[in-house]
Amino acid sequence: MTIARALTIAGSDSGGGAGIQADLKTFTVLGVYGMSALTAITVQNTLGVHGIYNLPLEAIEKQIDAVVTDIGVDAVKTGMLSQVPIIELAAAKIRQHRIRNLVVDPVMVAKGGARLLEASAQNALIEHLLPVAQVVTPNLPETEVLIEREIRTVDDMREAAKRILEFGPRTVVVKGGHLAGDAVDIVYDGENFYELASPRIETRHTHGTGCTFSAAVTAELAKGKNVLEAVSVAKEFITCAISDSLELGGGHGPTNHWA
Ligand code: PLP
Repeated sequence: MTIARALTIAGSDSGGGAGIQADLKTFTVLGVYGMSALTAITVQNTLGVHGIYNLPLEAIEKQIDAVVTDIGVDAVKTGMLSQVPIIELAAAKIRQHRIRNLVVDPVMVAKGGARLLEASAQNALIEHLLPVAQVVTPNLPETEVLIEREIRTVDDMREAAKRILEFGPRTVVVKGGHLAGDAVDIVYDGENFYELASPRIETRHTHGTGCTFSAAVTAELAKGKNVLEAVSVAKEFITCAISDSLELGGGHGPTNHWA
């Protein structure tokens, strides 16, 4: 039996709600074989991030090479990359292995405020990783950092998507969940804008939303869907996941559609 294969290059969340744990669960639920190259271990639960241990570059590089050269990948996503050398390495490996289906989740700050990407690394993300991305999926705070402008409206989101496209990704998905009202995401591929809207779900249990969304896009690309189809499935998937999120722990519970 053959199966679509997806790799996540990302950090571990010991609490199981975000990072590679969310990615691998999402790949599995969407029928894709999941692999991981760990970049960092976070000490984490629903209350927040209590420690970050970046892994040696050599360990990250060897994980990527081992799975790509033997098992092969149909799509790859990046999540928490934390430091300039890790970003540079991920980008170099994407180029070396000629990976076209790359989803970049420009992870910067966790909901609780912990920095998952050092401030000095923001430019490296723009310079090295966005040019090799098929899709980039910033939320609004990440969008504001990328374009150094405040976003208040859906029109601002469209303008931001245009500017981010200039950094080199083939498609930009600006996620509007941080604005009030319906959660409207803007997709821009350099030619057309698409608007994907879903009703706002009032819950504080949204931990891992961004990871799960970008993993779902990656899984669908791995299966051969085009970008717009993949993003549409991911939007539906994350909306269900948020409405079925779990009341686990004393803080922000995980988004888990499949529980
Ligand atoms: N931990 C890891 C390892 C992550 O990659 C991320 C987000 O990408 C988070 C935590 C943050 O999750 P959230 O902001 O949804 O709580």
